[in-house]
Amino acid sequence: MAVVRRREVVAAPAGGGSVSSGRVNEAAAVAASEVDAWASETDVLVVGFGAAGASTAIEAARAGARVDAIEAAGGWGGATAMSGGEIYLGGGTTLQKSCGVEDTPEAMLAFLTAATGPGVDEAKLALYCEQSAEHYDWLVGCGVTFEAKVWNEPAWEAPTGYGLMYTGGENAHPFNGIAQPAPRGHIVHMADKKPGERSAGWALLDNLVRTAENAGARVRYNTRAVRLVVDGGRVVGAEVATFGERSFVRARTGVVLCAGGFAANATMLSGNAPSLLGQHLVGTDGDDGRAIRMGQSVGAAVRHMDAGQVAFPSDPALIHRSLLLNRHGHRFINEDTYAGRIGQASLFTQGGQAFLLYDERAGDEARATMGYHVQPTWVSDDLAELAREMGIAPGVLEATVEQYDIGAAKGEDPQHHKVARWLRPLTAPYGVLDLRHAPSGVFTLGGLHTSTDGEVLTPDRTPVPGLFAAGRTTNGIPSRGYCSGTSLGDGTFFGRRAGRAAARGK
Ligand SMILES: Cc1cc2nc3c(=O)[nH]c(=O)nc-3n(C[C@H](O)[C@H](O)[C@H](O)COP(=O)(O)OP(=O)(O)OC[C@H]3O[C@@H](n4cnc5c(N)ncnc54)[C@H](O)[C@@H]3O)c2cc1C
Repeated sequence: MAVVRRREVVAAPAGGGSVSSGRVNEAAAVAASEVDAWASETDVLVVGFGAAGASTAIEAARAGARVDAIEAAGGWGGATAMSGGEIYLGGGTTLQKSCGVEDTPEAMLAFLTAATGPGVDEAKLALYCEQSAEHYDWLVGCGVTFEAKVWNEPAWEAPTGYGLMYTGGENAHPFNGIAQPAPRGHIVHMADKKPGERSAGWALLDNLVRTAENAGARVRYNTRAVRLVVDGGRVVGAEVATFGERSFVRARTGVVLCAGGFAANATMLSGNAPSLLGQHLVGTDGDDGRAIRMGQSVGAAVRHMDAGQVAFPSDPALIHRSLLLNRHGHRFINEDTYAGRIGQASLFTQGGQAFLLYDERAGDEARATMGYHVQPTWVSDDLAELAREMGIAPGVLEATVEQYDIGAAKGEDPQHHKVARWLRPLTAPYGVLDLRHAPSGVFTLGGLHTSTDGEVLTPDRTPVPGLFAAGRTTNGIPSRGYCSGTSLGDGTFFGRRAGRAAARGK
């Protein structure tokens, strides 16, 4: 086994506010001169084996490189295997065409620019939209299957048998006025899935892992990257730990960091994205941000470290049919938009203090759609009585409901522009769901700044030689706003590009 002679760091952690002062950064890179021996050598070392890592490994191996992946957990998976398997693709994919959906890369770009911004990486977004249809074919070529059937109801995940759905609020205000709406959430097929328990992300990764292994990539599980190794400013490998035993892996052409985000690291959250603290982790313990700190230690820049996906803690089928109210009894967003956009608005602008007000018909229709039964916190015929329970000033709730009902009766929502399909005056008895203490599901969107080829960039946009990254270790397509499917989408798409670039040693 290789031995480290000294435990000195070669660089201080840069930016991100992620490391408390006065402490040695354990993720800081080590100089190659400190490495006594390399335990193994490869061309491309992939760190983390979720969607981004597997896609990287496939393309690096197909480019002729020897590829070794290391995965901290005892098997492949990460957040990817827990996910719903929705992949945001469009611009006229084969699946969209089979479903009779018209779409163009231009419409997709206009939508994503508005929905995932502000501060989008324009080059990444343009490339992603332009090559999205090809990326769909690539996934199919890896054995991933999709059903040619559109799910036209609001939901976090569509049931088995449906392959396409709206996952970003494309058909709702304000985006329906910005770009031609099209469903772009491509849902990986998986038999007998149980949303929230056993979902299609597993089927996606099962196919990607098999493809990577068939292409020649080798994977070591229970092996965690600890630090990068640098030689004259170039990343040449990593120190890894297997059951506590440390060793060094040399990477001749590139190290690719695909180790997830930092939603499981409370210190990094409090320094970068404090609103996400105390919420429900949508991910795994592997989302400890170590790979981001490893990158920062060799001069990498980070982007949008305060951004996060926020899954609003309720069922979209019910939200669409309800009035979403803040703690003062006012509506603050159109309820028919993507529930992740609602989650961001609720957490970031209302401190997560929200109520859903609905009637019996709304509850029954929502249950009929997705099969969930939601028990209201309070039920009453009397809005004034409900307002007292909710702690809302007298008269406000009645005024909010009256204003909504008047517009809804005419099929209009002048205040928040909910589309006519979801507009109907509410009728007593009313139910209220108190969500003021319900945590939202969150994961981080910020991460290492990368080029369209996955090169990790310094603040002046110079690539760190030998270092690449993809997936939630990076800031990818979702800059601030989020649409379901953009995480698996950018992780697989830019993972492929990072794999090819790392194989070339670009
Ligand atoms: C319930 C749920 C539903 C979701 N649904 C969707 C969806 O439908 N569509 C969508 O786009 N997104 C969805 N997401 C989010 C999405 O799954 C993740 O953002 C995405 O899978 C991240 O991919 P990744 O490859 O970057 O990370 P991961 O899949 O998490 O893979 C990273 C891997 O790196 C490993 N690792 C970490 N640190 C190290 C280290 N130091 N050394 C070695 N290995 C390390 C981890 O163990 C992990 O296996 C969902 C997430 C959850 C939890």
